[in-house]
Amino acid sequence: VRRRLVALVATGCLLAGATSASTALGTTAPTAGADGIGDPYFPQDGNGGYDVVHYGIRDTMRTSSGLLTGTTTITARATKALSRFNLDLLLRVTGVTVDGRSAAWSRPNRHELQVTPATPIAAGQRFTVRVAHRGYPGSITWGGERSWFGNASEVVAMNEPHIAPWWFAANDHPRDKASYDIRIRVPRGQQVVANGRLMSRRTAGDWTTFHWSAADPMASYLAFFAAGRFTLEHGTTPSGVYYTLAVSRRLDPPSHKLALQLMRRTPTVQTWLEARLGRYPFRTSGGLTTSLPTRFALENQTRSTYPFLGGREADSIVAHELAHQWFGDSVSLRAWRDIWLNEGLAQYMETWWDHRGWSNPPRAMKTWLCDTYDDYGAEFWDLTIGAPGPARLFREEVYVRGAMTVQALRNRIGDADFRTLLRTWVSRHRYGNATTGQFEALAEQLSGVQLDGFFDAWLRTADAPAPTTANGLSACAT
Ligand SMILES: [Zn+2]
Repeated sequence: VRRRLVALVATGCLLAGATSASTALGTTAPTAGADGIGDPYFPQDGNGGYDVVHYGIRDTMRTSSGLLTGTTTITARATKALSRFNLDLLLRVTGVTVDGRSAAWSRPNRHELQVTPATPIAAGQRFTVRVAHRGYPGSITWGGERSWFGNASEVVAMNEPHIAPWWFAANDHPRDKASYDIRIRVPRGQQVVANGRLMSRRTAGDWTTFHWSAADPMASYLAFFAAGRFTLEHGTTPSGVYYTLAVSRRLDPPSHKLALQLMRRTPTVQTWLEARLGRYPFRTSGGLTTSLPTRFALENQTRSTYPFLGGREADSIVAHELAHQWFGDSVSLRAWRDIWLNEGLAQYMETWWDHRGWSNPPRAMKTWLCDTYDDYGAEFWDLTIGAPGPARLFREEVYVRGAMTVQALRNRIGDADFRTLLRTWVSRHRYGNATTGQFEALAEQLSGVQLDGFFDAWLRTADAPAPTTANGLSACAT
């Protein structure tokens, strides 16, 4: 995510409440799945007892009224014997089946849907749950978040850390990634853009259904769709990745033209990133500019989504969101406290991109670190970005101090080991989840440098790192 246009909005809020997790101890008797996946920042996010393999989402979006109706069909594998299990959903539920049979369900709170199948699910069993739902996502608030953007002619389902429960039933945590088929029906004349590849568009009567397929593993907050009227362009990057670009036709003509120029920077920026990070991780790529005033851009998987930013000079934001395709989308967080791994590395690649045309980019980046280090006052250093807390996930410090940490690491371990680190990190954890501890261990392993003190100073200290060689700041002393 990249917020630049206005003061940051605090999204996210500590969700107080029960975290009771039933655990089967030494028995195969079916028990209830937990109502959270185990992330202390958001105790109700995700659920326990199963792993989602695939989401099949079928929704009808009426932008004129804001009504969303549809079904989510989840194919999952039980990780233990389940008497019942939970899903995360904020829409009203109108019916639930498990493996085709009607299932009992209840709402312990507005976020949790508790499903009790007619017969228990065995450990390891693959099962299908289908949830019918309806509601007005634009009027839903949860945990202080209003995640939905829409007006009478356009909507976009984009937000972080939460958007899925506003439009489909989910195991809503990046730890449980899955493939998606997203079918959205809209009034004839409107279009839908979502993740992945467009498989079909079919018009019947007054409605058109768009079917998008995202075959690579994806975290639930990165699944998205936009409905409205868009100018679409398709192409193939130099490395052979098929891409789709979209710009809302609700933008006035000069803005529309500028936005299209910016979206067309996508293959160029992606090629530059591929030279530094290795191959682009997904089968498709692209970008979408919405006319809606989201005030932030988001790295929706394969289709980064932007508010109107201007023309090609705004391509640093494109670099940021495309860098997230590696850092955050392909290599995902295991817990939200590690958010600096997403934002620090994306902000770093953005900064590197901005310095690419300088006569000596590596030296320019060292200077950037020193200048930035000198620029910030004491309060900037108060936030320990290694554990910023759920209300501060997207604070400027996470981005800037995060990017500074990466450059300081480059200074500390040297350019060759640093480049190997980036490439090894994204290839080793491709499509998976990873932690700050794993990043530190890999940096140490590849460089042979003991880095405990370095990472403590940069990530876990509520103060500025001392301007020392050990902290990667030796060049700043002169
Ligand atoms: Zn970001």
